[in-house]
Amino acid sequence: GRVQTVALRFTVEREKEIKKFESTPFYKGNGIFESVEAKLTAKGTEKYEKKFTLQLFDGEYSYTQTTITKELVPELQKDISSDSFIVSDLDVRSNNRVPPAPYITSTLQQDAARKFGYSSKQTMSLAQNLYEKGLITYHRTDSINLSEKFIPQAHAYIKKTYGDKYISTTQRVFKTSTKKAQEAHEAIRPTDLNEDLANHSGLTNRHKNLYDLIFKRALASQMSDAEIKNMTITIEGKKGYTFKAYQDQVMFEGFLVLYPYEERKITFNKEKGDPIKLDSLTFEEAQTQPPPRYSEASLIRTLEKKGIGRPSTYAPIISTILLRNYVEKQEGRFHPTSLGDAVSDYLSGAFENLFEVEFTSEMEDKLDLVATEKSDMVKILKDFYGPLAKNLAVEEKKEGHIDVQEATDEKCPDSDHPLVIRYSKFGKFYACSDYPNCKYTRNFVEKVNIKCPKCDDGDIIVRFTKKKKRFYGCSNYPKCDFAAWKLNEIESADKAK
Ligand SMILES: [Zn+2]
Ligand SMILES: [Zn+2]
Repeated sequence: GRVQTVALRFTVEREKEIKKFESTPFYKGNGIFESVEAKLTAKGTEKYEKKFTLQLFDGEYSYTQTTITKELVPELQKDISSDSFIVSDLDVRSNNRVPPAPYITSTLQQDAARKFGYSSKQTMSLAQNLYEKGLITYHRTDSINLSEKFIPQAHAYIKKTYGDKYISTTQRVFKTSTKKAQEAHEAIRPTDLNEDLANHSGLTNRHKNLYDLIFKRALASQMSDAEIKNMTITIEGKKGYTFKAYQDQVMFEGFLVLYPYEERKITFNKEKGDPIKLDSLTFEEAQTQPPPRYSEASLIRTLEKKGIGRPSTYAPIISTILLRNYVEKQEGRFHPTSLGDAVSDYLSGAFENLFEVEFTSEMEDKLDLVATEKSDMVKILKDFYGPLAKNLAVEEKKEGHIDVQEATDEKCPDSDHPLVIRYSKFGKFYACSDYPNCKYTRNFVEKVNIKCPKCDDGDIIVRFTKKKKRFYGCSNYPKCDFAAWKLNEIESADKAK
């Protein structure tokens, strides 16, 4: 559990950081200038937007906030509305957007989670099937290299399908970002760009979705950059108020031809120095946002960035902490349970060194050295086990146990003591707080106070799939089979009726 504990710790520390974060309200000013929407950014040299950076367990987190308070809004509203404005600056530049590197295990897992909601385990099993059918290269890899064989095939395919202009003019070299990539492997790519998936039986839509991601990403990496024109419009009033607006337009799509993108045009046609009229001004309340909980994609990205886990282990790390009830996945985000909190806090306190992010990452590097026979296995084991054995001896002598329970506001029907939530290896259950005197227990059912939209009689309760994915079901199951992933799906099912 050495690596899983660190993964769990990321989610536990994040939960503490979210609790600690104090959301503060602020206001954002928005002007419409002859149909161009622009953001209020400054008055003279005083900038309204301020950037704040917090040091979190997994690195830095930045957010912006304006200095515009509720009290300031009426004054600004009045002062700005009576001002007159000109286009004070026009900045036009052409930027190239470079296609991303072909997939490695972690980036494939992240994209499949983001685009299709696949768990990392599911992605690995779909990729395994594609690999076994000879459709893709090996899917456990942290190398972004493409073979010499693939590149000319990709160029020929691009030329035939899109034309010469779409072939990358330079040989693209992607840098591997992982701390310790095993460069012997190749990136994940289709083995043959001209292969027709229809010739293969037993492929589901999910296989096709994943293959499509891999196909496009590998092909895109050999295509030309997209050229994008960006325009920054600065509008200034006589009193010094500054507004900024942005417009962009794709001038040449390049690799973007593979991906649907929103077609936008640069429509602004005034010159620098031209007067421009403010049609309306609104102020909108916003809140500073705490750092977000981890999703499957962001947890894998963090593990990879910190050098924790390897292509073969990201998926099992995540499914283990779910199966052990240390975290729950709610609407795609990881929430640690009170059991997860207790395990993480105990282990990171008692075995401080062992579950440090740095230590874990270094340990993995050392194990890689053993695997490639560049280091002495026995010495590494000695260095590792010596301090651990001492640490274990101290912990084993400690008395007492950690009682993991959550309070509820329910009473025990047998003894009238308060009920608490406890954990078994099957998950949460209700138990009497007077245990062992009172042995009352009941299955854990979490209600959300919504009636079932299908049978109108059952209550919507929280249930879990075999893989511990949380969903909403009906208390009349199996008589009623209503199920939804998200609360708002229940509301829309209700409205549809
Ligand atoms: Zn009781
Ligand atoms: Zn129902």
